Order: sequence, then structure tokens, then C-alpha cells
Amino acid sequence: MEIINRRKRMMSLARKLRREENRTIGLVPTMGALHEGHLSLIHEARALCDIVVVSVFVNPTQFGPQEDFASYPRDLTADAATLAEYNVDYVFAPTVEEMYPGGFSTYVTVEGLSHELEGASRPGHFRGVATVVAILLNAVRPHFAFFGQKDAQQSIILKQMVRDLAFDTEVVILPIVREESGLAMSSRNAYLDDRQRKAAGVLHRALTQARSAYDDGEHNAARLIELVRETIESEPSVRIDYVSINDAVSLEPLDRLDDEQPALLSLAAFVGKTRLIDNVVLEKSRKQDAAGAGG
Ligand code: AMP
Repeated sequence: MEIINRRKRMMSLARKLRREENRTIGLVPTMGALHEGHLSLIHEARALCDIVVVSVFVNPTQFGPQEDFASYPRDLTADAATLAEYNVDYVFAPTVEEMYPGGFSTYVTVEGLSHELEGASRPGHFRGVATVVAILLNAVRPHFAFFGQKDAQQSIILKQMVRDLAFDTEVVILPIVREESGLAMSSRNAYLDDRQRKAAGVLHRALTQARSAYDDGEHNAARLIELVRETIESEPSVRIDYVSINDAVSLEPLDRLDDEQPALLSLAAFVGKTRLIDNVVLEKSRKQDAAGAGG
């Protein structure tokens, strides 16, 4: 496994692998502090691609001025050891100066989708995400790029960007990996103490309850949102930022859900100072389909 710090080295290597050696390249972009959520993406990349590149870069342009860029957990040595175990071929770990050299002035904005939900709470966040992923896609030239459903809006935005700007990359989205308690794995969980970690379990419980209500026929978005809010509010140490139900493809806010259109029920909440996100997709389950088909 080679650790690459230079954009130029990454670009010339990718060109060689892709053009001369005709290898299939998979890219897994991360900000490091790796956990099993990241590893599930790497596992899939390993299964699908000849060459797996994992980028580790805490991207300053996607953090707001009051956010945790400075304190975000960083441990490249531990991450590199994990990645070597997972048979990753290359770790791309550039410095900020390497990614944004002096005079850098080009940013990518995915209009429409970037200003709702996470974008409303974190102005400029998706401009930073789209820009860094565009640079990574150009540097690594992957056939496949792997992202997690944990960041559902990010996944939708990046798919749109890849389509609009004709990147020669297929975006693959993989399911949320959770701890036993149901808490979605996140590098930011490292900020939580034991009591907060336990309290944070309410987020997944609330989403699961709403999904049961949906499965039982509750298709009124406001009522489902209220159910999620009530459950979370029963945990005094958790403060809701937003709870929302949107079309899972267009992110249009929905009043009523139907069986044809998958809906994204997503939320953000603070546990102490730590901001966590989570979501579920509400759609007619295959189990129900199968039951229907069976008569
Ligand atoms: P991050 O390092 O937090 O920027 O995440 C890098 C990638 O891993 C993103 O595509 C995330 O959506 C994905 N990811 C983070 N947490 C999880 C999780 N619990 N399950 C699945 N994917 C995840």
C-alpha cells in the first residue's frame, strides 16, 4: 500500500492504471477517523474494482466558521494501518495546500438541492463537498466512487454533479452501518461520552418507530414528523435541529407519502455540542410486495 500526498503523483498514477494497464479503479472518499461505515464502502470497492484508492482528507471548505474543522479527529497512522489490513492499494492523503493551492478560485455548486436540509443548517457545506469531490474525481479518475446513505443528501447531490458535469464515474451508494444500539456510525461519535452515546440511541429509535407507523399505513408527513419529534424530545439531552420528509430523489418536501415514491425521513440533532444526522427511506417494503403477490 502506498500513501500518496501529492495531487500530481495521484494523477499520473491514475492515468497509468486506467489507460495503460486498463485497471478498474474504485475511490472511497473519507475524512479519516475510520469506522465500520467507511470499511463497508471499502469492502464493496475491493469486491468490484482492481485498484482501491481511499482518500483521507478533512476538507476545510465544507465546514462552517463555527464548526469542528480544527477539532475533527485525525489519526492518519491508525487509519493507514486499518487500510493496509483491508488490502487497499493507495491512500490519497493530501495536505490542504495540495488540494487548494494559492490562488484556488473554482467552486462547484449543485443548484436547488444544496440549500435544503443539511444545506439550510450548514450554509456552504455542499459547495465544499461538491468541490472537493470534483477535485478527487479528476485526480483519481475512478470508474466507481463509493458513498454512504448515512449522508443521504450528499449522495443525491454528488450523483447530480457527476451527471451534470459528465464525470466518467459511476456513483455507488451503500447502506448505513449502525452500532448495536442502532446509532449510525460516525467519526463524530468519538466526541460523545458514555451517557451521550446512550442518549443518542433515541435518534434511530425515533426513525424506526416512524417507519413502523408508515408500514401500518400512516402516510401523513406531518404526523410522522411529529412522532419522531415526540420520541426525541423524551430524551432531554438531545436537541433537534430538523426533522423532515422529502422525496428521496428530488428532495422536494412531501405532505403525503405514497407507495410509488420512496421518501427520505431525515434528521439532525445535537447531543451536547455534537451534531449527528440520520435517516431512513420510507417505501413500500418488498415483504409487503411479496405478501401482495402471494395473494
Ligand atoms: P466521512 O469520513 O464522514 O466524510 O464519510 C466518508 C464516507 O463514508 C461518506 O460517503 C459517508 O456517507 C460514509 N459513511 C459515514 N458513516 C457511515 C455509516 N455509518 N454507514 C455507511 N457509510 C457511512
